Amino acid sequence: PQLANQIAAGEVVERPASVIKELVENSLDAGATRVDIEIEKGGAKVIRIRDNGSGIPKEDLSLALSRHATSKLKSLDDLEAILSFGFRGEALASISSVSRLTLTSRTAEQTEAWQAQAEGTEMAVKVLPAAHPVGSTVEAVDLFFNTPARRRFLKSDKTEFTHIDEWLKRIAVARRDIHFTLKHNDKTVRNYRPANTEIQYIQRLGQICGKAFAETCLRIECEHNDLKLSGYLQSPSAANGYSETQYFYVNGRLVKDRLVNHAVRQAFAQYAEGVSPGYVLMLDLDPHQVDVNVHPAKHEVRFHQSRYVHDFILQALQSAMSQSLS
Ligand code: ADP
Ligand code: MG
Repeated sequence: PQLANQIAAGEVVERPASVIKELVENSLDAGATRVDIEIEKGGAKVIRIRDNGSGIPKEDLSLALSRHATSKLKSLDDLEAILSFGFRGEALASISSVSRLTLTSRTAEQTEAWQAQAEGTEMAVKVLPAAHPVGSTVEAVDLFFNTPARRRFLKSDKTEFTHIDEWLKRIAVARRDIHFTLKHNDKTVRNYRPANTEIQYIQRLGQICGKAFAETCLRIECEHNDLKLSGYLQSPSAANGYSETQYFYVNGRLVKDRLVNHAVRQAFAQYAEGVSPGYVLMLDLDPHQVDVNVHPAKHEVRFHQSRYVHDFILQALQSAMSQSLS
């Protein structure tokens, strides 16, 4: 099973940031409201994710480390959701096949915590008592220690850190309800407190997108039939050139999409030609109206009625801009 897991890991685990993505998604799936990420040496040495989610019952701990052990596929309806995230119970097994992995967890029903450690090539799992509050900590040490070719592909600590930081920004923009922290080499470098109010959310956007964006952005809020767009658009007075702040989420999922870029540029054209402004936009629509690319890394979507969606976004932006500038 080790080899199969390592092959699967090739698709799942490209670098520390991809490990963190999988582990944090698990924490969020488990209902965590706080996720603390600690890394050493850009994540190549240590990745530790601690959450206050539901925890994993003792009897499921070793199972969680084996392939195709997902607790999440409950019905055929879920299949689409699971495909969209790309995972069917492979992340933990894959990560544990290319690192030294320990999983420590406690559920609310248990009075004590337990720790599982995958060992050796057959991936036998040993389970020992441990100390931990309700929730889980997953620790992956020495990523790719047993796959040196892969290890050589890792970039400098600084570059790997940047990948992690960028990914964290994207999830922190989308999940304003979650408290995220990031520690690098024992120093807390990010602290995104839960943003329950609009003011707190704009503060979070200031941390993530820069003060200039947060202080001048226009609020977008628009609904039409089954389409809903909300978020923020850089003010034309503050925009020039190309902004790095371009976040677009469809039904909560970050996507790269030319359609939204096109609509934004078009909305801007009458104020500032050739500008690609910053935006944080969330589009919600009937999931049946959009195809999510089955390849999890691509972040692409296809709208069944793309013209309709484009024009809706364009009009929502245009009306927000004309209101604020009149
Ligand atoms: P998947 O997320 O597709 O189910 P994973 O390999 O990522 O597969 O995780 C396997 C299982 O381990 C999950 O289905 C879940 O039951 C459990 N699990 C993993 N991480 C956590 C966590 N942080 N909190 C609670 N349960 C978890
Ligand atoms: Mg998972």
